[in-house]
Amino acid sequence: MKGFAMKKIGETGWVEKEKPKAGPLDAIVKPLAIAPCTSDVHTVWEGAIGERKDLILGHEAVGIVDEVGSLVKNIKVGDRVIVPAITPDWGSDAAQRGFSSQTGTPLGGWKFSNDKDGVFGEYFHVNEADFNLAILPDTMTPEVGCMITDMLSTGFMGAENAKIPLGGSVAVLGIGAVGLSAIAGAKLLGAGRIFAVGTRPVSVNVAKEYGATDIISYKDGSTSDQIVEATDGEGVDAVIVAGGGPDILIDAVNSARAGSVISNINYFGQGDTLPIPRIGWGFGMADKNFATGLCPGGRTRMERLADLVTHGRIDPDLLITHRFKGLDKIEEGLLLMKDKPRDLIKPIITIEY
Ligand code: NDP
Ligand code: ZN
Repeated sequence: MKGFAMKKIGETGWVEKEKPKAGPLDAIVKPLAIAPCTSDVHTVWEGAIGERKDLILGHEAVGIVDEVGSLVKNIKVGDRVIVPAITPDWGSDAAQRGFSSQTGTPLGGWKFSNDKDGVFGEYFHVNEADFNLAILPDTMTPEVGCMITDMLSTGFMGAENAKIPLGGSVAVLGIGAVGLSAIAGAKLLGAGRIFAVGTRPVSVNVAKEYGATDIISYKDGSTSDQIVEATDGEGVDAVIVAGGGPDILIDAVNSARAGSVISNINYFGQGDTLPIPRIGWGFGMADKNFATGLCPGGRTRMERLADLVTHGRIDPDLLITHRFKGLDKIEEGLLLMKDKPRDLIKPIITIEY
């Protein structure tokens, strides 16, 4: 089978591989919709997780089940399934402690395009199929299902981790597909005022649609100065970091007030350390707390997010700005994600059989 791979840091291309085999608990899936992620860009072009050779990329997919292992009970060949970006080992200690994304090693639930071939191939392997695959609802398109796998799950986690008080204020720094999902999540969780920080007009429009009350451009001066001024010198109850480079943490801390949570969902691809402003952080004593997390995976998470879509709480289709047909188009989609033209939020590739 063929797949689109990271050949080495900074280089991508097509590779030929053996079709993967399902162990007793696993499934083999063929993609129906796949999307490139900014994380693929960090992985390939920043070498963020180190060297990888001929590793098939991609971790956002909806697919059709091609094969199941002998012990799989609920998932059947031919099922159309939502495949979470993160596929934990559910029996692991970390999963049993409630941190399923960190199974085995830190970020260990992230298997696709990290420690095994990802979803940008003719077939891909899914571990623990009964726990990691959710049935795509009949009313949902594969494109929309694909937006659930990582964008919604990560963005909503950013809002959940931020512990936004009912009616509280939140600033979302970065409004790509991840930050936009965080805005939608913050609104659903009862935020009062929602600041959206970014400049791409397509993103600004969706931010307003998803519930942003104030739009701030980081190009119009210091983000934190603008947020502090707009809140009468107070700062916000919660900050969700969903874009930018290391210095964005300075804006995050300086935008937050006492009792706040700074919820990071950004993937910092470079550097050994990250900056925290000493004075803005009250010399370490300002009651400004950090939360971090990797996208939650698993069947129940996907089913719950699908319910939000099915019942009209969010329309993930608004995130998709570029649509392609055929696996061959994945290269074009990934390069769009790398180059980030101003009219892009998220590209998607659909495949018909
Ligand atoms: P995008 O690149 O599409 O969006 C980034 C956003 O950040 C844009 O809105 C951009 O603004 C904005 N931005 C850039 N610089 C600044 C700045 N200095 N201050 C404020 N905003 C800024 O990214 P995605 O939405 O696709 O992904 C966001 C991050 O989430 C990535 O690092 C990705 O790897 C990570 N991620 C993490 C996951 C997890 O599990 N934790 C899962 C998936 C993704 P503009 O509008 O001007 O372009
Ligand atoms: Zn991703």
